Amino acid sequence: MLDQYGRNIDYMRLSITDRCNLRCRYCMPQGVTCPESHDDILRYEEILRICRAALALGIAKFKITGGEPLVRKGCVDLIAELKALPGTEQVTLTTNGLLLQEKLDSLCAAGLDAVNISLDTLDTEKFRAITGYSEFSAAALRALLENCCTRGLRTKLNAVLLEENRDEVADLAALAEDFPVDVRFIELMPIGFGGSLTRVSPDEVLDTLRARWPDLHPTEEKRGNGPAHYYASERLQGRIGLIDAVSHAFCAGCNRVRLTSTGQLKPCLSFDSTADLRALLRAGCTDEELKSALEQAIYRKPRAHSFERREEMTERRTMSQIGG
Ligand code: SAM
Ligand code: SF4
Repeated sequence: MLDQYGRNIDYMRLSITDRCNLRCRYCMPQGVTCPESHDDILRYEEILRICRAALALGIAKFKITGGEPLVRKGCVDLIAELKALPGTEQVTLTTNGLLLQEKLDSLCAAGLDAVNISLDTLDTEKFRAITGYSEFSAAALRALLENCCTRGLRTKLNAVLLEENRDEVADLAALAEDFPVDVRFIELMPIGFGGSLTRVSPDEVLDTLRARWPDLHPTEEKRGNGPAHYYASERLQGRIGLIDAVSHAFCAGCNRVRLTSTGQLKPCLSFDSTADLRALLRAGCTDEELKSALEQAIYRKPRAHSFERREEMTERRTMSQIGG
């Protein structure tokens, strides 16, 4: 459907849990507990009902996210059920990858269309410092990528640009040389704990990458639902993507809304204004009422975020609550 500014909204991110098995310092640092109680989290049948209403409005692409979506029991079945809804075009997943290898067969059998694996470093020590997890192995990551690619699963790697990994961007990007995967660098957004950390500019990253791949050039290819700008090189099987959400806002082309794990429909990352779909569902609303609530909230989607004018930001939730 079109919002009040004529943007076509066809993509919904579904956070299915606020829990996670990592503690990334920009998202849910050590010591932070997950605030939502079990009863407050949407049940799968509630999520599917919202998706049916979204489909009736022309939203046909869904991304499963969290917290870490693979820690919630039944995630694979949800994906299969979403895929089976009439009209669904695409179901994709964003994961930190820890549980991906063991669930890959069932995810592919469920019909998953693509996966984004979040990975900020290839160094075990840095991985521990960023995420609190000490078992990371670059060899295991390579085996996982090999497995995803062998199965024909479209795979992207997402690295948030941090002070810790600014010297590692070329090594991370080189994974697109070894595998047919896209490697994307995401500018740190001032959401939750991200607001207190130093932002690294994607322009700086581009200079570093051009030093390693001198023929790196922009490509206009559309590679998924996101706002990344892609770059290609003869020597790369995949593409390198930059997501400069803060320094070059791409709000004019924004196509997405978000559903938090507690059933709040969130039209823009920057603002806390939501439509409480859980309350509506649990009060016994009709399908028509649910669709109308979605329609109104999406229509009123703000024109742009206010990451560069922090005083105007009203969102206080963490990224793990929102879903990224
Ligand atoms: N746990 C899953 C994962 O890490 O992919 C899914 C949820 S996570 C919140 C989704 C994405 O948001 C991840 O790629 C993560 O790196 C990104 N993210 C979290 N906090 C961020 C921030 N402040 N700025 C930019 N990206 C952020
Ligand atoms: Fe967990 Fe993903 Fe947040 Fe890291 S970015 S703490 S993996 S939800």
